[in-house]
Formats: sequence, structure tokens, C-alpha cells
Amino acid sequence: MKKTLIFTLLSVLVITGCKTEKKSDNPFFNKFDTPFEVPPFELIKATHFMPAYLKGIEEERNDIKAIINNPQPPTFENTIKALEYSGELLTTVSRVFGSLNSANTNDTLQKINRELSPILSKHRDDISLNDTLFQKVKSVFENKDKFRLTEEEKKILDDTYKDFVRSGAALSPGDKEKLRKINEELSILSVKFGQNLLAETNGFNLVIDKKEDLSGLPESVISQAATVAKSLKMEGKWVFTLQVPSMTPFLQYSDRRDLREKLFTGYFMKGDNDNEYDNKAIIARIAKLRVERSHLLGYESYADFVLERTMAKTPEKVFSFLAQVWNAATPVAKAEAAAQQEMINKEGGKFKLAPWDWWYYTEKIKKERYNLDDEVTRPYFKIDNVMEGMFFVAKQLYNLDFTKRTDIPKYHPDVNTFEVTRDGKHVGILMIDNYPRLSKRGGAWCGAFRGQSRDVNGKRIYPIVTMVTNSTPPTADKPSLLTSEEASTLFHEFGHALAGLLSDKTYPGGSLPRDFVELPSQIMEHWVLEPEVLKVYAKHYQTGEIIPEAIVEKLEKSGKFNTGFQTVEYLAAALLDMEYHSIKEPVDLDIRKFEKEAMDKYGLIPEIKPRYRSTYFNHIWAGGYSAGYYGYIWCEILDADAFQAFKETGNIFNKEVAAKFEKEILSRGGTRDPLEMYIAFRGKEPGIDALLINRGLK
Ligand SMILES: [Zn+2]
Repeated sequence: MKKTLIFTLLSVLVITGCKTEKKSDNPFFNKFDTPFEVPPFELIKATHFMPAYLKGIEEERNDIKAIINNPQPPTFENTIKALEYSGELLTTVSRVFGSLNSANTNDTLQKINRELSPILSKHRDDISLNDTLFQKVKSVFENKDKFRLTEEEKKILDDTYKDFVRSGAALSPGDKEKLRKINEELSILSVKFGQNLLAETNGFNLVIDKKEDLSGLPESVISQAATVAKSLKMEGKWVFTLQVPSMTPFLQYSDRRDLREKLFTGYFMKGDNDNEYDNKAIIARIAKLRVERSHLLGYESYADFVLERTMAKTPEKVFSFLAQVWNAATPVAKAEAAAQQEMINKEGGKFKLAPWDWWYYTEKIKKERYNLDDEVTRPYFKIDNVMEGMFFVAKQLYNLDFTKRTDIPKYHPDVNTFEVTRDGKHVGILMIDNYPRLSKRGGAWCGAFRGQSRDVNGKRIYPIVTMVTNSTPPTADKPSLLTSEEASTLFHEFGHALAGLLSDKTYPGGSLPRDFVELPSQIMEHWVLEPEVLKVYAKHYQTGEIIPEAIVEKLEKSGKFNTGFQTVEYLAAALLDMEYHSIKEPVDLDIRKFEKEAMDKYGLIPEIKPRYRSTYFNHIWAGGYSAGYYGYIWCEILDADAFQAFKETGNIFNKEVAAKFEKEILSRGGTRDPLEMYIAFRGKEPGIDALLINRGLK
């Protein structure tokens, strides 16, 4: 049998080999003829995506058909493995489109996204609701002891089976039809949500044309605002936007309380302006459909459904964990508010502290207590130096080298590309894209044009990882100079990137749950302000002088400053997420009322707004963090404790601990249960103490 098959394959190869290969105009239909097979961005046009998607869908459909029509009894090899390797073209085009649509979108891409999302939703449902396919998967799952499987294969089999069930494969035909309708509508709604949010973010500018209205702002912030104005064809004026690197410094330094209010109100009203981009009706509908979907699948709420597949497992566990931290943080935030009010009173201001005052008075108190502000440290955080710092840490810990390459296609001129090697051997490609622009969504994230895995024959496929941030951009006369928080964000995303680069698995599938995936990223934040690391990278951008000890000391001392606020504004958003997704009945929500009641229930003080209000909470409505935003602080239990593993040895670059972290955590991806992975690294479960101490809440 086998011999004939090989023979037939060979003859096919010979025949196709003889023909002159005709290259398609659509780059997705050819092998990428570039260094490291990076997508040939300069050849990819918007018009190529839809045909590539449609062909990708067709190919995957054929792959699935081949699995279904296989007359052999179902095995891991002919069912689960075959599924893992199905739809290669669709994966490639999805990764390219997804990355570009987030980091460099335009009206055409957005239109394609709107058209695509119901098509893709239907395609996914066609696979997961296919009964013949499900019966095969089920048979392999029920007979798993008969196959000799590796640990990774066992996990993939379990996950695949559960994913089918969780996607509705075991439902009656009538319920499957209902589910399809819900999925299709949800996919359209989340795209609309994201597009509204981008329009609202870009649609608001605080334009200043009188110099006196710039009172209090440092020179660097003013010149930044002039650059923004110029880019918007308002030369001679100053523009502040709702992008964090533009908005935050204004809130920190502007003496004009009325303008701070105007800008911050613009921010927290995004998507809530009762205009064509309003998101309230959209999220009410999403929340309702998610409850209906959960009920169909046999869960009480959407949170029950989501959390089943996380480390936390149940909503009760998440709520009780969040309450513990909330109760520790709220008194600290109240004391911070009181200190600010005291300063307002002392200055003779006859008003009550409001949310748009928080950054301003925090900055003043910080200056008074520690004689430190962001403008003092910025010159030491030139972005290139910070990146050198993170590369240095990766060298110390994992022996990785980063070499800048200029011969590799990029999707935007701002992208910097690095080849990553270890002992001279290729590890992967890292693309870093740092500055805000109108075509980029807010925030920071890490993605991949190609994930690490092995192909069907076991040959290693090398990752192409992307890191995207919205950092302070350079101006006409200054390079990009970061705040310490922005430096920390770079290290954070770099941590995700390391997990992508050091991944060492066999199969393409599998991912980490939301409440574990931030461990690799957040642990990196612990190195950014360590004196040993600062000494290496924090050099003055003009003089090259290493950051003075006195400033390092101040940075250390002020590290736990304002953590009440940071914790509470974050937790408020995490709780809001959990409240929306714990709804047990599909009701029509009044969004403003729901949000207010949810926050009142926990006693959120009026001086603080949740980090994300409902109408611009992209993470939970469009970003895959629904009932998962708590994951960041949950992971902090892990990263605070994991960093202790280094600290305890007296060496933050301890190579043995790093090797263990790579082996048990970074290299594994989603191939093992998270708690098992953690215990394999640390030898025990972590407690909440390291987190509270880390935040200065204990
Ligand atoms: Zn992250």
C-alpha cells in the first residue's frame, strides 16, 4: 500500500517539476521568496486579501473533507494531526491581515474586515459543527489510551475534543442553527465596535492656538504637540489627541484645569457620544448574545463558559481573588486622593478633586516627595537604549543575540527588524513597531506573522514575531524619549515576544489561557528598573552619561507611589468585565446604568474612572479578553513569585533559573496545564503575598 502511494507522489512531483512554474500575481499563492520567508509586504495589495481568504477557506474545506472521507478508523494521526495541519494558507493570510489591520489599517482593510468576519464565522462553524468530523474526534478521544501519544499530543487531543464540544458540536441540529446565527452576529458586532472606537479616538483633538494655554507643559511635551499639529496640517498650533503618549503628559502637567477636563472627558466618553460611532447598543447586544450562547452550550453565564478553560476555572474564584486585592488597594487609593485634596486646599483651590486632576496632583506630590518627574528621567530612556537594555537582559538570561536587518520586507517604515540567534544559530525574526499613527489602534501588543512549530515531517518552522507599541515618538529635534512606564511596556511586550521566539513545540495549535499568558510578559517588567540593568542601558541621550545613582534611588523609592490608583482603576475595569459576563439572563442592558451600578456596588471612588469604560473596552468586546481582563493581575501573582526565584539566588541573571523558566514555561506554549507548568518551574504554588508586597499594598 505504502509503496504505491510514495511512487504516485513521486511521479506527481516529477510532472509538476517539469512544467515551468507559473507565478501567480497574488503573493499569497506563491511561496514567499524573501529572507526567512517573511511576507513580501511591498507586493501585497489590499485586493489580494479576499481572493487569498476565499482560496484558503476552500483549501481548508478540502483538507477537512479528506479527513472525513478517510475510510480508515480514526486515529490521532489521520484525525487530530491532520486537523492541526489543515488550512495552512488560511492561517498565513489571517496572520498577515490581522497584523496589518491592527497596526496599519485603512478604509479598504476595514471594509474587507467587515465583509470577512461573517464569512469566517460561517467557515469556523462549518468545521466545528460538522457531525461526521466530531464523531471521528470523539472516537479518538475515547480511545486515547490505545494510541502512544506524547504529552503535547495528549493535551492537543483533549483541547481539540473540548473545543468541539464548547463550539456546539454535540448540540441538536436546531440548536446548531441558532448558534450559527449568534456567532455570525457576534462576529459582525465586534468588528463594528473596533471600527467605531478607532473613529472616536481619531475624531477628537484638543487644539490649542494660544501660547498661554500651554501653561505648565514641559518643552518636550509642547514640541510633541507641535509635531502632531503639523502632521494634521495645523502648523503653528498645538494638538493633543486621545492617544496615551499625547494625552497623559497633558493631564500630568497642564495647569489649565478646564482643558484637562476637556481632554479627559473626550477620552472617557469615547463610544458614548450618542453619535454614529456610539458603542452602547452594540455592547448591549454582544452581552445579550453571549448569555444566549452560553445557555445553548449548557453554561449559566458567559464567564462560566470562558473560565472553564483557564487557570482560575470559576467566576467565584475570580471574584474572590479580585475582592482580596480590591480590599487591600481601595484604602491606599483613598489615602492618595486625600493627599491630593490636601494639596489642592493648601494651594487655595476651592474645588473637589476630579478624575482629570489625578495625574496632575500625582505628579506634583511625586515631585514634592521624591523630587522626581518623568521629564527628569526621559533623557535616560531613549527608545534605542531601552531596546538595547531588553536585548541585554535576553542575552544574560537566554543567551540570545539580536542583529538589526535592513534587507527584510516591512509593512511600515517605522518597523525595525531583528534577526534573533543563539550561538550563531537562527532562532526567529522580531519586528518592532513603536510609534502611534492614525492607522494603528491604541495600546501595545505582540503578534506573529508565523508561529513556531514543526512541519508534518518534523522540520522546524521558525517564528516571525511582531511587537507593537504606541510609545512617545521622536520630534524634529529630539529622538524618542520614554517615560519609565513606557520603558516598562516595551519590556512587557518583549516578554511576549520571547515566549514566541523560544517556543519549542511540535504542533501549530494550542495557546496559553488569558490568566497565564501574561506571566512571560510581566516577569520581564521586573528587570527594567533593576539598577544592574539601568547601568547598562539608561544613558543620557546627549551626553551618554549613565543615569545617576541618585535618580535610580528615587525611581526605586517612588516605584510604589500611586499604586493604590493604578490597582483600583485596573480592578474596576476587571470587575466591570466580570459583571457583564456573569449576567445569567439575556436582558437588554442600559449600558450607562449598568456600568454605574456595577461600580457603585464595589464603592469605586468618584475621583477614579475604570481604566476602560464599557464603550471603549476593546479587550472584552473585540479583543478576546472577555471574562479575562482579570488575567493581568492574576498573572502578577505568578510573575511576582517567579521573579523571586531569581532574587532568592542573589543573582537576577541566574542562568540555571532562566534555563528552567525557558524549559518549563517559555518553550511550552499551551502544551501543558498552566498550574503544572508553574509548579514544574517553581516547585510550589504561588501565594498572593508577593503580589501585594510588589504593589506596596501590604
Ligand atoms: Zn501582555
